Amino acid sequence: KGPDPDLVAIAERMATVKHKILILSGKGGVGKSTFSAQLSFALASLDFQVGLLDIDICGPSIPKMLGLEGQDIHQSNLGWSPIYVESNLGVMSVGFMLPNPDEAVIWRGPRKNGLIKQFLKDVHWGELDFLVVDAPPGTSDEHISIVQFLQATGIDGAIIVTTPQQVSLIDVRKEVSFCKKVGVEVLGVVENMSGLSQPLTDFKVFDSSAGGAAEMCQEMGVPFLGKVPLDPQLCKAAEEGRSCFEGQSCRVSAPVLRGMIEKL
Ligand code: ADP
Repeated sequence: KGPDPDLVAIAERMATVKHKILILSGKGGVGKSTFSAQLSFALASLDFQVGLLDIDICGPSIPKMLGLEGQDIHQSNLGWSPIYVESNLGVMSVGFMLPNPDEAVIWRGPRKNGLIKQFLKDVHWGELDFLVVDAPPGTSDEHISIVQFLQATGIDGAIIVTTPQQVSLIDVRKEVSFCKKVGVEVLGVVENMSGLSQPLTDFKVFDSSAGGAAEMCQEMGVPFLGKVPLDPQLCKAAEEGRSCFEGQSCRVSAPVLRGMIEKL
């Protein structure tokens, strides 16, 4: 039996991609897509050639977070063309394929895996410095698939996004353990919505003083990248699908995010 032709096709596509980074989270709603989007904007602003692949098939938020809602994917003889935000930032998401964004995507594992395979095989990224992959929360079929499909070409590592709460951290431990089991390096953990960018009296829900991700990282032997505060300006940038690094847009969170990216 010869090599799997799909894996061969994926390896060919990935031959022009220098670095592949997975963005993971234990739970939904912790800011994984926001981080993926802003990491991509930041890398692009540093003049890297960047691709952002959204494999959160049941809840794709990337089109909105990059201001690309309602765009359609085009096909050429080279494959599916990503949608470009800028000449050096291309995006691919199942969100571009859904006729109605309000419609639920109810797919079983094999169909999701099929689409992930197709994304890796058929998207014509061209030369990329970074492929940022926004994964769904948790460790499910999609995660096993992406790791398996990219095994031959290698994944540089994963960044795990969490909030400071123990409830979120419990699931991050599972992500770290997943990465260890499948041999993906944890590049670091980001503690998001950690404290507030603006003072608000008697607001303790996002209190970041206790333990949190830093302590867990130390315990699990993985790098801690830092804390991004709960920042209304970052939330607004995500809603409006724009970079938080431009102008004065996110005074508090943008320098923090930039510092994290420099550590990678
Ligand atoms: P996930 O991808 O983990 O499900 P999202 O990235 O979709 O989470 O974020 C959920 C919501 O929280 C979004 O509306 C986003 O704009 C907002 N958000 C994320 N991080 C921050 C932050 N640091 N400050 C304020 N709002 C944030």
